[in-house]
Amino acid sequence: MKLVLLLLRWLRDAFSGAMLPPVSEKTLFQKIMDREEPGDILYEDDLCVALRDINPQAPTHVLIVPRNPIPSLDALTEEDESLVGHLFLVAQKVAAQERLTDGYRTVFNNGPDAQQTVGHVHLHLLGGRQMSWPPG
Ligand code: AMP
Repeated sequence: MKLVLLLLRWLRDAFSGAMLPPVSEKTLFQKIMDREEPGDILYEDDLCVALRDINPQAPTHVLIVPRNPIPSLDALTEEDESLVGHLFLVAQKVAAQERLTDGYRTVFNNGPDAQQTVGHVHLHLLGGRQMSWPPG
């Protein structure tokens, strides 16, 4: 009987949450990429996804998001150097697709002063209207 109790205790511990690797919560953008949340995806490849912003600040407002959920520009490392270049080349491609022939703006918001709201680094592509400078 004691042996059975010991076995049951071992099974409980072995399969309890504490023994399992922590389940990391997906970011909003990962859920959109994985089609768990709705999103208007216009482009995707092995490294990133481009989707329309739900609250557009210009006639074209697209977010270019790496598949790797790096939290912010501050969290990028030298290993991400080519990824960052890739995000800009995708922005260029999407801008051409969207016929932004008169120009466009790309922005990384980083941290609270820049009003970053989603903790998964993303490049904003905005175009289709005259922009002002300095930005608000
Ligand atoms: P940031 O403030 O730089 O972190 O940018 C986050 C952007 O994500 C904002 O422009 C939001 O409008 C946009 N956003 C938030 N939720 C969604 C969503 N479900 N689908 C598409 N864009 C979103």
